[in-house]
Amino acid sequence: MTVTIADIQAARTRIDGTIRDTPCEQSSRLSEIVGAPVWLKMEHLQHTGAFKLRGAANTVLQLSDDERARGVTAASTGNHGRALAYAARQAGARCVICLSHLVPQNKADAVRALGAEVRIVGQSQDDAQEEVDRLVAEDGMIMVPPFDDPRVIAGQGTLGLEMLEQMPDLGTVAIGLSGGGLLGGIAVALKAQNPDIRVTGVCMERGAAMSDSLRAGHPVPCNELPTLADSLGGGIGLQNRHSFALVRDLIDDVILLTEAEIAAGIRHCYWQDRQIVEGAAAVGVAAVLAGKLTSEVPLGLLLSGGNIDMNLHHRIISGEDVNLTKEG
Ligand SMILES: *Cc1c(COP(=O)(O)O)cnc(C)c1O
Repeated sequence: MTVTIADIQAARTRIDGTIRDTPCEQSSRLSEIVGAPVWLKMEHLQHTGAFKLRGAANTVLQLSDDERARGVTAASTGNHGRALAYAARQAGARCVICLSHLVPQNKADAVRALGAEVRIVGQSQDDAQEEVDRLVAEDGMIMVPPFDDPRVIAGQGTLGLEMLEQMPDLGTVAIGLSGGGLLGGIAVALKAQNPDIRVTGVCMERGAAMSDSLRAGHPVPCNELPTLADSLGGGIGLQNRHSFALVRDLIDDVILLTEAEIAAGIRHCYWQDRQIVEGAAAVGVAAVLAGKLTSEVPLGLLLSGGNIDMNLHHRIISGEDVNLTKEG
């Protein structure tokens, strides 16, 4: 394994002063629907509004003085960029975040507000990554990848340690799945402690890069399209070195969701559980509501982030049938 439970435990100590331990609460309404206890891990309340700070901080805190002086850069669907900007500012390092035009404006603004430089390039994560490669080659900046890096994966894995402490009888978890750093890290942490815990990945139907790659048996390119789960967009990298193998070896199930199902998840989180979450974070709840995820054992759903454009959120919770493709 590229990442071990010991790496994750070390990450936890390292990032302790940067992140907050987020609460975990039972949802009575969802428990009723499932017929078993359902817990919500409230990671949308993390600093910067998403779990990505765990992996970014774990990486930045391991840079040498020379690397820190050169500065950090990344391509991002928004949340990793925001997390890296936050961690870099704490470390006093320069930070450049490259985003595609698909990334919502609110996310670009949030990165800028943290003092990072933002470059908006192209229509996909791959286009944004080209600019990162240039910054590494020409300016000597240090790339901090959003998921395919053992330090990042170990940082995200600290969520698995926290979840099992908060839900000792956890039987199944559902995790939003994109590049797989999140699911990979959590799966290592959980299964090292209890190999019987089932780990389910949840993606949107539209551009599910990891799901397609698992089926193909190797990383495949993905066609990126607008989705309510924008933080799950983007490919896994054709040269993927770590997260694909981890996910392939540790995942138990994959669930795919329609845009309407994701919208229903966001709506439920707001009206029933009183939480404002982004699409990527609502997928576990959405899978339960769609009847695609059942459990006879205690179920943990990770609310992975809350960085949704509030005008879009308002329209969704008001019952509007939002179709991002038509809005182009
Ligand atoms: C990045 C992200 C994910 C997916 O994480 P991966 O490591 O890319 O699989 C899920 N939810 C939110 C809110 C994210 O920002």
